[in-house]
Amino acid sequence: LEAFSEAAGIRPRDALGKLPRYAAGKPPLTVEGLESFKLSSNENPLPPLPAVLEAIAAETSINRYPDPMTTALRAELAAHLGVPATDIVTGAGSLGALNQILATFAGQNDFGAPDEVVYAWRSFEAYPISVGLAGAVGVQVPVRADGTHDLEAMAAAVTERTRVVMLCTPNNPTGPILTHDDVVGFLGQVPDDVVVVIDEAYQEFVRRPDAVNGLGLYRSHPNVIVLRTFSKAHGLAGLRVGYSVAQQSLTEHLRVSAVPFAVSQIAEHAAVTSLRHIGEVEARVQSIVDERTRVVAGLHELGWTVPEAEGNFVWLALGEHTQDFAAQAGEQALSVRAFGSEGVRVSIGEEAANTRFLELCAGYPHRP
Ligand code: PMP
Repeated sequence: LEAFSEAAGIRPRDALGKLPRYAAGKPPLTVEGLESFKLSSNENPLPPLPAVLEAIAAETSINRYPDPMTTALRAELAAHLGVPATDIVTGAGSLGALNQILATFAGQNDFGAPDEVVYAWRSFEAYPISVGLAGAVGVQVPVRADGTHDLEAMAAAVTERTRVVMLCTPNNPTGPILTHDDVVGFLGQVPDDVVVVIDEAYQEFVRRPDAVNGLGLYRSHPNVIVLRTFSKAHGLAGLRVGYSVAQQSLTEHLRVSAVPFAVSQIAEHAAVTSLRHIGEVEARVQSIVDERTRVVAGLHELGWTVPEAEGNFVWLALGEHTQDFAAQAGEQALSVRAFGSEGVRVSIGEEAANTRFLELCAGYPHRP
């Protein structure tokens, strides 16, 4: 296929050739006598709520296009979050919502020079891909040794070409949050015409009381967009629903670059139903947070150092042992996410999966 398109002189935009590929979490190897667990995509390990499954099954009009404005979902979210529905824009996962933000605010200036998007690194692996896809260039600011954003360095990296800054809290894959005071201080250092996206994909798992909550900030900061998802806490990763929250002056622009009908009515109905059963969702989230507490305490007991884990995952800064550890996890039928020679991210999964992960760590000779 490659040879054929070359022969026809067809090639993708230059910017695309340089993009890294998104590596989706691999399912675990099957190991004789062991139940396999997938701890590589920060998914919710619990099965869907029965009410959500019923809502999906009851959806009979899929021969029709969905409501392009996702009116029912935005109304339900508005009531749930205490924000006006006009401030909410939905998308196919928060990744869809993010691509919409970048397509709207970052690309090339009128003279063809690429805009800049500043983000921490390592952070969510989709950022460089989405930024490149939009035609902009990424400016990566290394996270500190403890896995936190270096906000001083990020503010210093903002130039007159910067259109967007991404903040990820809790940061995927390293785990720590940004505090409210951190973000307020940062916003004070960034020009008002730079869009600051606060990616809160894991917000529901956060237990630190001083953590930022973008919903409490965006009304006083017209350049802030909060990114949330139904993929993690609500366990609807397979249905693809996410959303942006920002002042109407920004959401108006975002609606222009929306992929029409990005959220199917099945996904919309499932998300509405999940919000209507928020008590059950919260109880499940708490059970995952409890498992996270057990895993982190277990790692500490074993003498492992891990960064603050406020999402549904832990980060093992294993350096040169990264790939080896991931391979050993595979032998225990656990799939984990290895990042080069930096470290391994392990999602909090089923109780049995977490226990097996701790056993693996107990026997592993190189600990961060
Ligand atoms: N942001 C962050 C920080 C994530 O980790 C993820 C998923 N891994 C996403 C956004 C995208 O999730 P989704 O598109 O499923 O909402």
